[in-house]
Amino acid sequence: MIQQNIKAAIRDIPDFPKPGIIFKDITPILKDPGLCDSIVDAFVAGLKDTKIDAIAGVESRGFLFGLTLATRLGVPFIPVRKAGKLPHTVKQKVYELEYGTATIEVHIDAFKPGDRILIHDDLLATGGTVTAASELIHDMGGIVAGFTFVVGLGFLNGLEKISPISDNIMVLAN
Ligand code: AMP
Repeated sequence: MIQQNIKAAIRDIPDFPKPGIIFKDITPILKDPGLCDSIVDAFVAGLKDTKIDAIAGVESRGFLFGLTLATRLGVPFIPVRKAGKLPHTVKQKVYELEYGTATIEVHIDAFKPGDRILIHDDLLATGGTVTAASELIHDMGGIVAGFTFVVGLGFLNGLEKISPISDNIMVLAN
């Protein structure tokens, strides 16, 4: 049911932000508080047996449900941001894109070594971004407790990429 409701709400925008990409616009979900609640409920139910010390949300749409989920679970939220956005001392990870590289950063004191961090983003495409986030968390002494996504683009094989990192992966709609 939740899968159908998410799929019905998501809007496909062809050729955004560049030709050939079909952008999955989740903003219609945000207009539906009941659907937002049921998304967080589904994550909470699926995570009931997972020990989590904090949720790391990937900029920027990973902040939306990431913070709500963290608040519901009663754990801290960690913003994973693009380079140059976080004001305090950071640890960073440079990762490969199709063309060139990108950098993500986390505050150096965002969590303690040994903490179990669940990584959240709105959408799983190739899995490159959350793989970089998991490497950064690992470099900082954290343990990746799993991944949650509202949507997955199955044809890009993100699941295959991230399943060696953790088999605790939740994708609400494909
Ligand atoms: P990736 O690293 O390839 O898994 O890309 C994931 C990130 O890019 C997520 O933060 C998504 O929000 C965004 N993204 C990638 N492809 C799309 C798409 N077709 N529609 C919307 N967002 C996308």
